[in-house]
Amino acid sequence: MNDYAVQLLTRMLEIYSPAGKEEEISNFLANEMERLGFNVRKDHVRNVIGEVGNGKPTLLLCGHMDTILGRIPVRMENGKLYGRGAVDAKAPLAAMIVASSMLAKKLSNRILMAGVVEEEGSSKGIKQLMKDGVTSDYAIFGEPSGTDKITIGYKGSLLLKITCETQTGHSAAPWLYENAIERAFDLWKEIKEIHLEKEKQDSHFYSINSALIRMTGGKVTSKVPSKCDMHIDLRVPPQFTSQEVYSEVASKIDRYQSVNPEVSVALKIRDRTEPFEVDPQSPLVRAFSWSVRKVRHTSAMLLRKTGTGDMNLFGRALNIPSITYGPGDSHLDHTLNENVDIQDYLDSIQVYREAIRRLIKLDENNR
Ligand SMILES: [Zn+2]
Repeated sequence: MNDYAVQLLTRMLEIYSPAGKEEEISNFLANEMERLGFNVRKDHVRNVIGEVGNGKPTLLLCGHMDTILGRIPVRMENGKLYGRGAVDAKAPLAAMIVASSMLAKKLSNRILMAGVVEEEGSSKGIKQLMKDGVTSDYAIFGEPSGTDKITIGYKGSLLLKITCETQTGHSAAPWLYENAIERAFDLWKEIKEIHLEKEKQDSHFYSINSALIRMTGGKVTSKVPSKCDMHIDLRVPPQFTSQEVYSEVASKIDRYQSVNPEVSVALKIRDRTEPFEVDPQSPLVRAFSWSVRKVRHTSAMLLRKTGTGDMNLFGRALNIPSITYGPGDSHLDHTLNENVDIQDYLDSIQVYREAIRRLIKLDENNR
């Protein structure tokens, strides 16, 4: 099985599959999963869904087939396999496929093994699964947490565009006019200081973080800028909804407007993702912790990450226990040095397998 697992991952890395160009890897995985005994179907965005077993509980295992742009020659060096997607997230996806196929014959429940498209960007793949009414009792997302770690939370995000406009005139007499760029920056400094009561200021995970990610304004020489656009990325901890944070920004802007009537401010939401955190006492987290101890002889570390993932969308919408787990060091995500340690990869297959077995037992006892 180990040889096959390494071969599968190597072939997946050899198929270059940046977001939007998943056709080849999607066909490859559909064939491969059929050979491994899954009932395979594809939906119209080219997600591949393999099914084995039936009965409760249904587990969704989900990993993305796409990578960011940029080829990396596939090679094995000192027990590490290099290639674009080695970490993010083909090793986790391959490991989940191998683990669930090993369980296939002895299953008393149903596993849905999904390879999805376009996680790097629009999350089109996971959104399609949700549109098609795919449901499960538990969900496991394959992303690099490290073989000994389990990701149990992601923050949400709120992307805002704020436009400040002022009356303007010749820049030879700047004292006469309001500079929209300067005023926008003043407003940004106030937004940056937004904090709510339930926040924990000493924690990056449980506090609101904000970043000014783009600022544009000013058109011609000899004119004080009359318009400035700011793009702001606010990260939302799980004790809030993105709406609560939005309302706070909106009332900050209202207050700013009332003291600065010479500046007009417009606020728009460009995108939002709700935060997600699973109860550490959930059978899903307990099963994975147990399995890490069994396979790796160490206590699993529970991670709460400040980014977002497909887990936010699916776990939140279905309100089911969800975690993110997979081999690989996420610091290597999107770098030219993407590689996965083969032993970590092989061990993660055992972790998935033992965890799923354990989860089915714990779930039975809970019913
Ligand atoms: Zn990823």
